[in-house]
Amino acid sequence: MSTCHALHFSGHTVAYHLKRDRRRTRIKLEINTQGELCVKAPAQAPNRVIEQVIKEHGQWIIQTQQQAASSHQEAIQRPDLIQLPFLDETLTVRFSDGELGRVEPNILQIPMDFEFPDERLVAALEHWYRFQAHGRLRSSIDTVADQMDTQINKVTIRGQKTRWGSCSSKGNISLNWKLMFLPNSIIQYVIVHELAHRTHMNHSPAFWSLVSRYDPDYKKHRTLLKKFKEPWPFNTV
Ligand SMILES: [Zn+2]
Repeated sequence: MSTCHALHFSGHTVAYHLKRDRRRTRIKLEINTQGELCVKAPAQAPNRVIEQVIKEHGQWIIQTQQQAASSHQEAIQRPDLIQLPFLDETLTVRFSDGELGRVEPNILQIPMDFEFPDERLVAALEHWYRFQAHGRLRSSIDTVADQMDTQINKVTIRGQKTRWGSCSSKGNISLNWKLMFLPNSIIQYVIVHELAHRTHMNHSPAFWSLVSRYDPDYKKHRTLLKKFKEPWPFNTV
């Protein structure tokens, strides 16, 4: 069993975990990589003896803890900028004192207290991309559906692992939010492809002929699309 203690001496406060062990004959001090001090002591060792040992090693403890803290800080030091593709442009993520949000058309501001890589940062970025996908993909679909004179039902934005889009027999279209990483021309191809399934629920020559009417470069776009594997650079989500 381990208990938590704090000891004040010569202007410092040292917190430590105390583990007493019947088999132990000497007091041992250990500092882990997080800088936490663990004191292992014989079961009957008086507290004042333990505290005396800690005080005697005070300088070593403080130095070792400071080293652990600075190497921990280095590990989480974030980049000044993160640049991610966004449609045909580049989205720049900037850390700033302000609140989370888009400050200029292609600059997303992330509060300073977000570390890197931080689950909250990755979640905020995904949230932002999904939000943009809702607006941009929805309006592109409406425009193309008008051009193709096609009726659609619901549009859902998803995070499918292996597909960019799908179209159900009821006319429900789902699109992957990671399409936002791809160039506009390829997104247009995906939309034309899914909407063409409203007329042909297969990949027959008639289907491809319909696709080619609205995207004459569809072969090139299809080949390019296959080359995009996983555009999301973070593996935490
Ligand atoms: Zn298809």
